[in-house]
Amino acid sequence: MPVNIAAFTAIRTQFEQQGVTLVAVSKTKPVEDILALYNLGQRDFGENYVQELVTKQQTLPNDIRWHFIGHLQSNKVKMIAPFVHLIHGVDSEKLLREINKQGAKLHRNISCLLQVYIAEEDTKFGLDAAEIQSIASLQSTLSSVTIKGMMGMASFTTDTAQVRKEFRSLMQMSKEFPFVAAPIISMGMSNDYPIAIEEGSNMVRIGSLLFGSRQ
Ligand SMILES: *Cc1c(COP(=O)(O)O)cnc(C)c1O
Repeated sequence: MPVNIAAFTAIRTQFEQQGVTLVAVSKTKPVEDILALYNLGQRDFGENYVQELVTKQQTLPNDIRWHFIGHLQSNKVKMIAPFVHLIHGVDSEKLLREINKQGAKLHRNISCLLQVYIAEEDTKFGLDAAEIQSIASLQSTLSSVTIKGMMGMASFTTDTAQVRKEFRSLMQMSKEFPFVAAPIISMGMSNDYPIAIEEGSNMVRIGSLLFGSRQ
């Protein structure tokens, strides 16, 4: 399936007006598809798998901002630490400490988002308020990471009231623990991004709407 240029153009125009950053989620898609959007000016791309990201990063232009949006295992942090722009899914203190350690080795400060548990589905990852509180109190000791905000995934459901409620709980958490002056709120995907933006998202991760459905 070819890249949906019309959808991309419409979304980008809308997001520019609303001050929302579009992360084009290119997992499982070929480098040609990424280049098609790159050539139209897109620079933020999101990937879920470490090895796939490393391979793509080596072949594609250096000014791409790579977002890691998958579930990151501590032992793989070092593979993406030299170049990753933003790690969205930090869901444990252990992972945050490892990112800090790898950042320190490289003399590089690595930007992260805490993944908040907001969905009713228990298959999703994320931190609860107590864990965020504990990370907030240890933050000043980690000099090679910056927590720039939060990320969350709503339940995969057609119940839009439920989705809205979950996004609202992420916004609430971000207000309680702002971490920085203007926090990044990464929420919304192909199926639920309009609700996410209504609820205050300023970074949306869209895959299938741009690149077609995945296997
Ligand atoms: C795959 C993925 C997306 C993109 O999903 P689409 O439904 O294809 O837009 C967004 N966020 C995360 C965390 C993902 O894993």
